[in-house]
Amino acid sequence: MNKDIVIIGAGLTGLAIAHYLIKVGFSVAVIEKENRTGGVINSHHEEGFLYESGPNTGVISWPEVAELFEELKPNCKLITANPKAKRRLIWKGKKWNAIPSGLFSAIATPLFTLNDKFRVLGEPWRKPGSNPMENLSDFVCRRLGKSFLDYVVDPFVSGVYAGKTDYLIPKYALPKLYNLEQKYGSFIKGSMAKAKEKKNNPRLQKATKEVFSAEGGLQRLTDALAQSVGETNIFTSCEGTNINQSENGYLTKTKYEGKEIEITSKYVVTTTGAFTLPELLPFINHETLKPITNLQYAKIVQVILGYNKWQGCNIKAFGGLVPSKEKRKILGVLFTSSFFEGRAPEGGALLSVFMGGTRMPEQYDFRDDEIIGILKTEIPEMMQLNSFNPDMLKIFRYRNAIAQYGADSKERFETIEKLEEKYQGLFLAGSMRNGIGMADRIKQAKTIVDKIMQK
Ligand SMILES: Cc1cc2nc3c(=O)[nH]c(=O)nc-3n(C[C@H](O)[C@H](O)[C@H](O)COP(=O)(O)OP(=O)(O)OC[C@H]3O[C@@H](n4cnc5c(N)ncnc54)[C@H](O)[C@@H]3O)c2cc1C
Repeated sequence: MNKDIVIIGAGLTGLAIAHYLIKVGFSVAVIEKENRTGGVINSHHEEGFLYESGPNTGVISWPEVAELFEELKPNCKLITANPKAKRRLIWKGKKWNAIPSGLFSAIATPLFTLNDKFRVLGEPWRKPGSNPMENLSDFVCRRLGKSFLDYVVDPFVSGVYAGKTDYLIPKYALPKLYNLEQKYGSFIKGSMAKAKEKKNNPRLQKATKEVFSAEGGLQRLTDALAQSVGETNIFTSCEGTNINQSENGYLTKTKYEGKEIEITSKYVVTTTGAFTLPELLPFINHETLKPITNLQYAKIVQVILGYNKWQGCNIKAFGGLVPSKEKRKILGVLFTSSFFEGRAPEGGALLSVFMGGTRMPEQYDFRDDEIIGILKTEIPEMMQLNSFNPDMLKIFRYRNAIAQYGADSKERFETIEKLEEKYQGLFLAGSMRNGIGMADRIKQAKTIVDKIMQK
């Protein structure tokens, strides 16, 4: 078989790349090892609940997200979280406290010390840092103070990265925040300047910070992409895939439906985890790949709890995050049925609990009864339930869930660039670079396709 481009992996990244390429007339083959498309995105309709294993929500942080949903109409409809349930809660002491949303709540909140509340007022005048490898803990303490680190950034990082603030490097893990300081001298001044820039640029206005999903579940997004790519261009249940250089580009070999198939192509894009590269790309020395394959991933245990009748605390909020300092055994809970309609029976609730992460990696290896044991002590107290007893309980484990952008990122990104320069037509995509969220994947897909078109 001969194709313009071979894409390895039919998750969001691979499918989005294939969709954009097909739209501009390239021929593609998407090679997937599982028997389904979508990668970690997986929506389930069961027992009156609609729940997600893998990601639950994304943020429309790039215009490309809104534009992709526009393109996929009517096969997939963008939905955004109910603004009435936008409160973000943080566990402190023995209860949930809302993250302040205005001046008065900021003054009154018990989350921050009085000293740090005053300190924030001086943020615009604080000198920008000069160490690009400063970790997130130091970065936040320097600009905002320790209580902001402990009660906003630490739990936020658990919610997004399932990671730790002393490991992540803002330059790589939170580049938008890092650049506010570097470019504008302060978070506050930078946010104001950004808001102004946005006002004058209609395309930038499509990036809204709103939380998104698709009507019927996130899988509708990857299903719509797969439909756009076309069944005949996607090869699922492929085994032993490997790529080698050939005269005019690359030769991909894989076992599909019991037969060995070979595809020649000018371009190859991998979208799989960093750890898959040595097997996929045998023509690259393992030592050369080390800065990429060394990438650490957070392990996540995700537990879905469905209640036909909710009798706990007020969950009209987005969810709650738990700071490390509080030493609880969960990272956080999303109140999914509060911000998306139709996720639980009327009067019921759907919660998505996150555990493990780099804070408690050992939980990944806990047996189901051990996980349930933890939830039996944590959930009733934290959610004000008389007893645990959910009507539906599902446990999912992800060994390589979220890439951790630590101090090794610089070398990793440079190695990827060098390899792409050396092996023309090869692109290494996925969450090993360019961010970890779904919005980042969509933006990355668009950028790669633009690069291929330029070539
Ligand atoms: C538990 C969890 C929760 C998350 N929560 C959020 C969230 O709330 N918001 C958010 O924005 N993002 C979240 N993310 C991240 C988000 O899911 C990802 O950014 C995105 O879905 C990844 O898409 P991908 O295509 O890059 O990777 P994947 O979805 O992992 O797809 C890669 C595909 O490659 C296939 N593959 C692997 N090896 C091979 C091989 N050798 N040959 C062929 N195929 C292969 C895999 O089977 C898979 O289908 C979460 C991720 C996880 C795991």
